[in-house]
Amino acid sequence: MTALYKDRRSLFSGTGSAIAAALVTGWMSGSMWIAGCAIPLGLTGFVRWMDMNAYERAMPGPQALAEARRWEKRYILGSSTFAVFLSLWCFLTFLLTQDPAVHLVSFAVCLAYMIGITGRNYASDQLVTFTTITAAVPMVAGLLLQYEFAYVFLALLLVPFFMSVRNIATRLRHTLFDAVVASHDLRALASHFDTAVNNMPHGLCMFDADQRFVVCNERFLTLLGLPTGGRWKGRKAVTLLARTLEANSVPKEGRQKVIESFQDWFAAGCSGALVLEAAGEKILELTFQPIEAGGCVMLVEDISEKRRAEARIEHLARYDALTGLPNRSYFQEQFEAVAARGQACALLFIDLDQFKVVNDTLGHPCGDALLCQVAARLRRVLRPSDVIARFGGDEFVVLRPLRGGDAKEASLTARRIVSALGDVFTVEGHQIVIGASIGIAIEPTDGETFDQVLKNADLALYCAKSDGRGVWRFFEPDMDVRAQDRRALEIAVRDALENGNFEVFFQPIINLKTGQTTVCEALVRWRHAERGMISPAEFIPLAEETNVIIELGDWILHEACRQCASWPGEVGVAVNISPIQFRRGDVVRSVISALERSGLPAHRLELEITESVLMENTEVTRTVLENLKRLGVRISLDDFGTGYASLSYLHHFPLDKVKIDRSFLQDVEADSRSRKLLVGVARLTADLGMSVVVEGVETRPQLTLLMRQSSIEEVQGFLFSPPRPAKDIPSLLEAGKVDFDQVA
Ligand code: C2E
Ligand code: CA
Ligand code: CA
Repeated sequence: MTALYKDRRSLFSGTGSAIAAALVTGWMSGSMWIAGCAIPLGLTGFVRWMDMNAYERAMPGPQALAEARRWEKRYILGSSTFAVFLSLWCFLTFLLTQDPAVHLVSFAVCLAYMIGITGRNYASDQLVTFTTITAAVPMVAGLLLQYEFAYVFLALLLVPFFMSVRNIATRLRHTLFDAVVASHDLRALASHFDTAVNNMPHGLCMFDADQRFVVCNERFLTLLGLPTGGRWKGRKAVTLLARTLEANSVPKEGRQKVIESFQDWFAAGCSGALVLEAAGEKILELTFQPIEAGGCVMLVEDISEKRRAEARIEHLARYDALTGLPNRSYFQEQFEAVAARGQACALLFIDLDQFKVVNDTLGHPCGDALLCQVAARLRRVLRPSDVIARFGGDEFVVLRPLRGGDAKEASLTARRIVSALGDVFTVEGHQIVIGASIGIAIEPTDGETFDQVLKNADLALYCAKSDGRGVWRFFEPDMDVRAQDRRALEIAVRDALENGNFEVFFQPIINLKTGQTTVCEALVRWRHAERGMISPAEFIPLAEETNVIIELGDWILHEACRQCASWPGEVGVAVNISPIQFRRGDVVRSVISALERSGLPAHRLELEITESVLMENTEVTRTVLENLKRLGVRISLDDFGTGYASLSYLHHFPLDKVKIDRSFLQDVEADSRSRKLLVGVARLTADLGMSVVVEGVETRPQLTLLMRQSSIEEVQGFLFSPPRPAKDIPSLLEAGKVDFDQVA
C-alpha cells in the first residue's frame, strides 16, 4: 500500500502534464470545453495529494489488512477519477476538433498515463483493470468517431495492446507475489531453525571449508566457557579450540592432542569424537561431523552427569552396598586376574561366629553397623594388595596373593584376622564379642577354578567351625571326603526315621532333698546297622542343618510322652526342643498331639529349650512359650551359661527351670572361684523364682558340694545314671529313691 501512496512525484508530474496538455490542446483547438478539462483534472490531482497526506498521517502497520484494503480502495477511486477525466478530455479532442496535432497530443498523453499507471501499480489488479477500461473505452470511441481508416486501424490495434498491457501487469504481480511469499517462507524457516538451534541441549558450531568459524548457538559458548559477546566469525577453528582448552584448564599435553586430532579429521573429511575432562569434574564430549559442502559441524555435549551415573551403576554392580567392599562377582574377576598372571594366592573364607545371635537380639540395624565395623577392621589389618569382599550375610572372603606361593603367609593373615575380629566391638552402645572362624584354600594347589578354590575354602571353614570357634583351617583333601560323608549321613537320617532306627534313651534327674527321680530327660539314639550307636551330638546338628530335625523332634516328643505315660507315679519327662523346631516347626501343635495321643497329663511334660531360642525373634518366642505354659507344660532352659543370655534377660520369659551347664562343674573341687561362680549363678537363678538343676554331675565331691547349696533343687549326671534304654526305666524307678550316701 505504501508503494502506491508514497510516489508523490509521479502524481505531481502526471497531474501537471495532464493540465498542461489540456490547456495547450484547448488553445490549439480554440475550444473552451477542451481547455476546461484542466479544472477537474487539477481538482482530482489536489484531492489525491490531500489523500496522500492523510495516508502518511495514518500510516497503517503491515498487519492491519482491513485498513490497507480501505486505503487501496481510496487510491483506486482517486486514480480512476483522474483516468476518467483524462480520457474524457481525450474523447472531447476527437469529438470537437479535426486537428491531427491535437489528436496526437491527447492520444499520446492518455496512452502514456495509462502505461504509467499499469507500470507503477501493477500490484493492484483492480486499479490496473479499472484504469485500462476507463482509458481505453473513450479513446477507442474517439478514434472510431473519426471514420477514417488510420484512426479506425489505430482503435483496433489498441484493443490487443490494452489486453497485453493488462497481462504483463498480471504476470509482474504474480512474480512479485511469489518473491514475497518465498522470502517470507525463508524468513520463517530461518526463525524456526534459530529457535531449534538455540533451544537444543547441545552446543553447536559450524566451520567452513577453510576451518573458519561460521555460526554457533549460545549453549556452545556457555558449555565451552567462552565469552558470549566474543567476535568469533571468521576466526580459525584451531584458535577457538585452543581458547576452549585453556578456558577449561585442560592440561597442556592434552591440548595438542585434541587440536591434532581435530585437524586430522578435518583434513580426512571424516567424523570423530573427543572427550575433554575439564576442571571441576566437568566432562565434555566434542563430536565432529563433516558437511557436504565442505567444513564441519561441531557438537558439544556435557556428559558429566552421564559419566557419573555410569560410574554409580558400575559401582553398584561391583560393590556391596552396605560395606562398600567388592561383591562376589567383582571378587571373582580379581581372583581370575591374579590366577591368569600365574601368581599363587590364598582364599580366606571368614565366618563371624556369633553374628546371627547379635542380629537376632539387637536387631538388623545393629547387625548392619557391626558388619561395617568388621569391614573396617579387615581393611585395617590387611594389605592394600589384598582383596576383601563380602558375599552377603556375615560371609567375608579375602584374596591374598602369595609371594613364592608360601602358605605360611596365609596362616599369618588368618591369625591377624581372628585376633582383630575377636576384640570387643562397640555398636550403638552395646559391647559385643563375635569372633571369627576361617577356612583357607590355596590356588593352584587346592583347585584351579574360582569355584573349586572357594568350595574348598568353605569346606575348610566348616571344619574350622566344628573344631571350635575362633580357629582357622587349611583345606585338606579328606575334608571333601568328610563333606561327602555328611551328605550321605543326611540321606541316612531320613531313611532311619522312615525305618524306625531311632530310639529314645532316658536319664533320670534327681531331687537333691528327697533322692526321688522327678523327671527323666529323653535323649535320642540312632542304632546304625554298620556304625552301631551314633551319638546325637553327631547327627543333631546335621539334622538341624537339613531341617529334618522337625520330623525327628516330633517323633521323639511322641515317643517320650508315650513312654512316660507308662511310668509309675508322677515322674515326668523332659524333651529337648531344637531352635529349628521353634523357628520352622509348629511346637504347640506337636505338643498337643503328643499329649493327646499318649494321654500324658501336661504337667508331666517338660520342654528343654536353649538360650539361642530365647535370643531369636523374641516376641514370637515369648508368645509360643506362653501358649505352651497355658497347656500346663513346663519350660526349662538347657545348657545355661554357655550362650549369650544373661540372668537379667531370663525373667522376660515364662521359665520354670534352669539347667546349669556341666562346664560350671569343671574345677569346682579345686578352684574356689569356679565354686563361687556356680553357687552365685544358682542362687541368683533361684532368687528369680526358677528351680535350679545342675547337669553333668560325675563325682562324689561334686555332689557333696552341691548338696550344701539350698538353691540347687535337682541334679543329673553319670554319677546317678547314664541315659538308659526305655525298657530299663520302669525298674529303675521302682527301685525307689537314690541313697546319696551310697552313690560313689
Ligand atoms: P543335652 O541336652 O545337654 O543333654 C545332656 C547330654 O549330657 C547328654 O548327651 C548326656 O548323655 C550327657 N550327660 C549326662 N550326664 C553327663 C555327665 O555326667 N557327664 C557327661 N560328660 N555328660 C553327661 P547326649 O545324649 O550325647 O546328647 C548330647 C546333646 O544332643 C544333648 O545335650 C542335646 O543337646 C542333644 N540331644 C540329645 N537328644 C536330643 C533330642 O532328642 N532332641 C534334641 N533336639 N537334641 C537332643
Ligand atoms: Ca537337654
Ligand atoms: Ca544340657
